[in-house]
Amino acid sequence: MEVFERVFWAFGPCIDGFKHCMPVICIDGTHLYGKYKGTLLVATSVDANFQVFPLAFAVVEGENTSSWSWFLGCIRVHVTQRDGLCVISDRHPGIIAAMNDPNVGFTEPRAYHSFCVRHIASNLKTHVRSNDMRDMFKAAAYQRQKRKLQVDMCFIGEACTKAMEYIVQVPFTMWSLFHDAGRIYGICTTNFSETFNSVLKGARFLPIMSLVELTFHKVNRYFTLRRESSEAMSAQGLAYPPPKVTVILEKNTAKARYHKVDAYNRRLHIYQVITERGERLGSKGGHKHTVNFQLRTCACNKPKIFHLPCSHVLAVCVTYSLSERPWVDPVLQSEAYMNTYAPQFWRIPCETTWTQ
Ligand SMILES: [Zn+2]
Repeated sequence: MEVFERVFWAFGPCIDGFKHCMPVICIDGTHLYGKYKGTLLVATSVDANFQVFPLAFAVVEGENTSSWSWFLGCIRVHVTQRDGLCVISDRHPGIIAAMNDPNVGFTEPRAYHSFCVRHIASNLKTHVRSNDMRDMFKAAAYQRQKRKLQVDMCFIGEACTKAMEYIVQVPFTMWSLFHDAGRIYGICTTNFSETFNSVLKGARFLPIMSLVELTFHKVNRYFTLRRESSEAMSAQGLAYPPPKVTVILEKNTAKARYHKVDAYNRRLHIYQVITERGERLGSKGGHKHTVNFQLRTCACNKPKIFHLPCSHVLAVCVTYSLSERPWVDPVLQSEAYMNTYAPQFWRIPCETTWTQ
């Protein structure tokens, strides 16, 4: 009898569609409960509408350096050669070792590694037995400005030395949005891929061949629904941008009404935006942000981190009738969304009824 050790699979439409997704890959493992046990490894990305995008699967014996290296290596060979990818995961030693192995294909600058903020926060909570420290760490991780991050870190340091010691052993670039160079598009957790895993919940009890087939049908359906919604969107003439991006832009536009714009170098397209007092409950306002249209930067750091125009940029756009479109990253535009789900699935030629 032949017994296989591991199996990796990825569907053609996912491989093609990923070219239009954010350059982010979330990886995660879940135990299987079927006859043969093992662990299901799943890689997902995020589409232009901030939805999880299924990318690749594997069944392996368990989570270790060898299995994670093999899975990531298969992704490099069969799924994507894209550079500048950011892999988001928990801090499993097997994943860290695989990411650091040059033979696997995910070392810098080809790829970067970020940790899921929720995982670190929950481990920190267990380590220091404090919900407050967990929440304070999360707040610090989501700060986009140096000043605010420093305030949060001081707060943690004063409140709990043990928590501080735990946090600083993890490099800032792997969890702090301020230190992120725009690589994770604001995707700070692996929640996205875990959502997809819950879609596969029942699958964890299935024989492996049925599991593969189930992922085929689930992913196929997933594509069909999103393809229809993106086509309906374009039929209505809502060519740009996808719904969730629109919501973010509308929110920022509403905030922009409370900003005052001074052009202090119109020739160089540099503007100063002052936020008004009382704009938000508890907000002191009166902050000055420099917006540079040539470099596409704002002192608030949000355009760099989220690849979308912040309220300060939108305030300038409204005041001087400038287009905000160049500030919207191509992977967040509706064309990318449509292209992501355009590839078609075809029926499996000889669908098996094979059971284990
Ligand atoms: Zn800004």
